Amino acid sequence: MSASPLQHLGLLALDIVRLCLWLAFLLVVFVPLERAWALHPRRHFRKSFGTDLVYYFLSGLVPKLLLILPLTVLAATLHHLVGATFYQRVAELPLVFRVAAALVVGEIGSYWGHRWSHESPFLWRFHAIHHSAEEMDWLVNSRAHPIDMVFVRLCGLVPMYVLGLAQPMADRLDLVPVLVTIAGTIWGFFIHSNVSWRLGWFERMLSTPAFHPWHHTNDGPEHVNKNYAAMLPWVDRCFGTYYLPKQEWPTRYGTDTPTPPDLAHQLFQP
Ligand SMILES: [Zn+2]
Ligand SMILES: [Zn+2]
Repeated sequence: MSASPLQHLGLLALDIVRLCLWLAFLLVVFVPLERAWALHPRRHFRKSFGTDLVYYFLSGLVPKLLLILPLTVLAATLHHLVGATFYQRVAELPLVFRVAAALVVGEIGSYWGHRWSHESPFLWRFHAIHHSAEEMDWLVNSRAHPIDMVFVRLCGLVPMYVLGLAQPMADRLDLVPVLVTIAGTIWGFFIHSNVSWRLGWFERMLSTPAFHPWHHTNDGPEHVNKNYAAMLPWVDRCFGTYYLPKQEWPTRYGTDTPTPPDLAHQLFQP
């Protein structure tokens, strides 16, 4: 039986409360962190902070709504084509293995989704919004057009579904994509943060606030289109787009592509 409009409203209210609690957590973590180790000195509330707050709520609500239909169709088609036995066998593998595999497979998928968003002029129209930020901090992670968000997330989820690492047809909570999505989201805020940390060998394993800013730099053509990976920088190494100098930092962020300053035009103009 489908939910009533009142139940839908209740679920929406719950989602908003959940996002407010996450926001409080992110503020408590990242504001002191960026104060103590700021790479670039910043005002408390930079330009576009308010717009990015709206994006924060949009990115918490919209992809979920837009992804339900394509993922349900995909899961049903795969179960029909591949059969339940294969997916049952994958589901029996240890959870740690499935999460690790989903992380790698999802990262490769979203790497290519992200790279195509730069290489295809059509997709770039949407993705340019994320690159319009001229000051970096943790909240820039949220600045993304819903179409861009959904496309890149879909590119990460589809290979997980095909390999049975995500199994929404199972009768219990599908833990693997939930854990991978939560880890990826928190990590996304971290790699956008304005902190001057260098983490040595760790930077080879996981992306850091030293790695991702090179993806946002507007320091010249030799630096653009690098570091597409969100969590695993060695994926960039595999596909020839890795860039992380030992001591240097970007001096300018943003894009030469003109993007509207206000939220309404950012959402509807692409
Ligand atoms: Zn990008
Ligand atoms: Zn970014």
